[in-house]
Amino acid sequence: MMSCDRMENDGMRYIDGEMTPAQAAEFEKHLAGCETCRRSIAELGRVDSLAGRMRIGDPMDVFWEGYWKSIYKRGERRTAWILIVAGAAATALFGIFEIGRNFGPVTFVKVAAAVLAAGFALLLVSVVRERVHQKKTDKYRDIIR
Ligand SMILES: [Zn+2]
Repeated sequence: MMSCDRMENDGMRYIDGEMTPAQAAEFEKHLAGCETCRRSIAELGRVDSLAGRMRIGDPMDVFWEGYWKSIYKRGERRTAWILIVAGAAATALFGIFEIGRNFGPVTFVKVAAAVLAAGFALLLVSVVRERVHQKKTDKYRDIIR
């Protein structure tokens, strides 16, 4: 009959299936007649499967998936914003260029277009600066959340 000391040492090997069939049979024979070792093996098995789950990482997988999805979504929105503002600014600048090419008397429309273009340019700079700032602080916000 195996001693309980050996049982404790071999518990993990038994659970991990690292024993030879003969060793496992001997181990199970002891378990059948020893309540203490049955309990400790049950406990070891529980801890082992818990550790296994954590290693495989079900909850962590979900966490990282959500993490990358949210990063991606934010990146998409950020890019969309920049494209919209850049497009608007380019349109306004093109208007200014057209006016400059066919330079005639200064009209209200030309001044308005120039003001509009300046506004878009300013907005573009502001948005880009804000996005760059957000990018810098993003990783800290995600950790806190
Ligand atoms: Zn025992």
